Amino acid sequence: MIYLCGIPFEFRRDTTYNIKDHKYIMSDTTTPVPAQNLTDGMHVVVDTLKRNGVKVVYGVVGIPVTDLARHLQECGIRYVGFRHEQSAGNAAAITGYLTQKPGILLTVSAPGFLNGLTALANATINGYPMIQISGSSNRAIIDLQQGDYEGLDQMNVAKPFCKASYRINRPEDIPVGIARAIRAAVSGRPGGVYLDLTTALLESVIDQDVIDKCMFVTEDPAPAYMPSAQSVEKAMGLLAQAKHPLIILGKGASYSQTETDIRAFIEKTGIPYFPMSMAKGLLPDDHPQCAIAARSFALENSDVVMLIGARLNWLLSHGKGKHWNPNVKFVQIDIDPEEIDSNQHIQAPIVGDIASSMKCLLSALEKQPFHADTDWMDQIKKAEAPNVAKMAAKLSLNPTPMNFYSALNAVKKVMDKNQDVILVNEGANTLDDTRDVISMQNPRHRLDCGTWGVMGIGMGFAIGAAITTGKRVVCIEGDSAFGFSGMEIETICRFKLPVTIVIFNNGGIYKGDCKNLGGGSDPSPTTLMANAQYDKMIEAFGGIPYNATTPDELQSALEAGLTADRPTLINCVIDPSVGTESGHIGNLNPKVILQK
Ligand code: ADP
Ligand code: MG
Repeated sequence: MIYLCGIPFEFRRDTTYNIKDHKYIMSDTTTPVPAQNLTDGMHVVVDTLKRNGVKVVYGVVGIPVTDLARHLQECGIRYVGFRHEQSAGNAAAITGYLTQKPGILLTVSAPGFLNGLTALANATINGYPMIQISGSSNRAIIDLQQGDYEGLDQMNVAKPFCKASYRINRPEDIPVGIARAIRAAVSGRPGGVYLDLTTALLESVIDQDVIDKCMFVTEDPAPAYMPSAQSVEKAMGLLAQAKHPLIILGKGASYSQTETDIRAFIEKTGIPYFPMSMAKGLLPDDHPQCAIAARSFALENSDVVMLIGARLNWLLSHGKGKHWNPNVKFVQIDIDPEEIDSNQHIQAPIVGDIASSMKCLLSALEKQPFHADTDWMDQIKKAEAPNVAKMAAKLSLNPTPMNFYSALNAVKKVMDKNQDVILVNEGANTLDDTRDVISMQNPRHRLDCGTWGVMGIGMGFAIGAAITTGKRVVCIEGDSAFGFSGMEIETICRFKLPVTIVIFNNGGIYKGDCKNLGGGSDPSPTTLMANAQYDKMIEAFGGIPYNATTPDELQSALEAGLTADRPTLINCVIDPSVGTESGHIGNLNPKVILQK
């Protein structure tokens, strides 16, 4: 330490700054600068995140972001360390979905970055706001492809997989860089943003005064987007004249947190509706206008369909074909103007955010009330009756070993009594059948594979949801699906999260009894271990294991899990011969296979 006029001075040399001791190692360089007025890139990143309201960061540490995570904790931001970046990214994504603020993922360079990228891409496809912040290596070496440690041109690699991809090169740009990332993630259609922080940036040293001058907090990062009055009027005209109107609620609607207004509109107009998978519970599934059990009948017969935050993508057979009335007309509320007409002609687009749009629709309805023909609702209820009876019959069977339905019947008994539990659900048959059987009563309580039907979201979503909401989480997992993020049960136990995992173990992808067509002793491509004892895994980390071979055992294990003071895992033994290939979407497999 050198003293000039009694003030401690140190010498600045960026690359030899020792971040832990807040000291500079003396060097032969530059002018002396007062140590107490200095800061560095890492601290500025943490400070900017904190000022912008970031409460939790999910990630996996390593070079060059380990100290960054330490500073997050030091600064009061929660850091949740995972075992794999993809799960951490999924936790960030679902945090974004649940809070309307970007969830943050922190990754190390190259491989860690790439591991996180699947979650970032999935968030973008689904409209979940998140920011993947990744450390990266030396630009000069990467750009000349000279082979740096974990060297990869991450910013450019990320571009096709997210809404925006930025690199911050100068510490004074950190506030503006983070502001741009936040805005890009939450404004318009939400999605993933990549933010590249080089080692050089993290260790760069700058006067605190300079940073103070450029520090700011983003104002209104997701501004209201009012629809035009004409678009609302046109939509109302179309709906009022419809003989068989229908409303489809998508996860954009649940994201928008406007269930009160959506419900008021549905009830005042008497229009039947059904929710897409993650919009289940936006209105309670047992709402008298819910047409979910007569979905096909409703689609085939509706003459005007209003989509609220739902896309006419593959999940709605692109709005055409045998499931749809060929003369159907569409009203679509969406924040993204480019979504309109993406598959079908939308006669009445309402481009705006759902919250503002619903307010406009409600006030238009006040001025010119209308009510759908009650006979239409009656027709739907009539069409529903045989489907409800069929489902009741399936649920009442009690085969040995259990099938998906007898297991779900047990789960349903518990979930119906615990409606505030968040349900995470993934798999193929496990996904389809759980969605059909388990009713949801609360918005944003069903979190699943989403737009891509992706596997591997399970433990990440469970952790993100538990951390963000403080609520209990039950994961209904296919045995294959669980495998993609199963190691995160260590994270769940380490953070003592109130999570119960139910594994529908039928010993395979889709099912467990397929044969090796080559006749050899290797298991078939879809075969997993039917006798695997997944429950033993959680024992290793101090959680509570259960093995359930009957619906009664499953019911009591799940009940115990929901009151346990530790995470629980229930290995649920399902008949390996049940389950259909690819669940409900087997038709998406190649249809022509020539017999040779
Ligand atoms: P689902 O799979 O449930 O049908 P999608 O993810 O396909 O839902 O569609 C959600 C749609 O909602 C997207 O087109 C997205 O642009 C839109 N969206 C998301 N948030 C909002 C919002 N706040 N206001 C309006 N539209 C929104
Ligand atoms: Mg399986």
